[in-house]
Amino acid sequence: MIIVSACLAGINCKYDGGNNADDRIIELVSKGQAIPVCPEQLGGCPTPRLKTEIVNGSGADVLDSKGRVIREDGRDMTAELLKGAQETLKIALLLNAKKAILKSKSPSCGCGKVYDGTFSKKLTDGNGVTSELLLRNGIEVISEKDL
Ligand code: SF4
Repeated sequence: MIIVSACLAGINCKYDGGNNADDRIIELVSKGQAIPVCPEQLGGCPTPRLKTEIVNGSGADVLDSKGRVIREDGRDMTAELLKGAQETLKIALLLNAKKAILKSKSPSCGCGKVYDGTFSKKLTDGNGVTSELLLRNGIEVISEKDL
């Protein structure tokens, strides 16, 4: 089984209430080969919601208590994104998932590059919090751009 970002499957869980529907991901889900998961909703974030970005590093730094996740109004959302990552990992382990295809650039789902915490659309190297936690637990993570 493959874990996929729910927004890529057409679920309206994106921060602005929309989605990032990708026909290849929708096909995987409709064939029963993938399960859609939204870490931020699982972490208790509402939809729609304000944007969040990682400051002082990437998801690895957040897991290591060196980085934080901040909402664009300044509120600290680290606890919510950590909870969402843990709940996503729980689902992945329940399903014995070996692979995840997650939405690029997101502070939760990003893989390889994430927004840099300045809310100016600039990217920095690193993974989102959920991607990093899945990787640390032996699950392969790619973004939809790598498909
Ligand atoms: Fe999509 Fe992941 Fe953001 Fe949820 S947390 S909206 S699944 S990118």
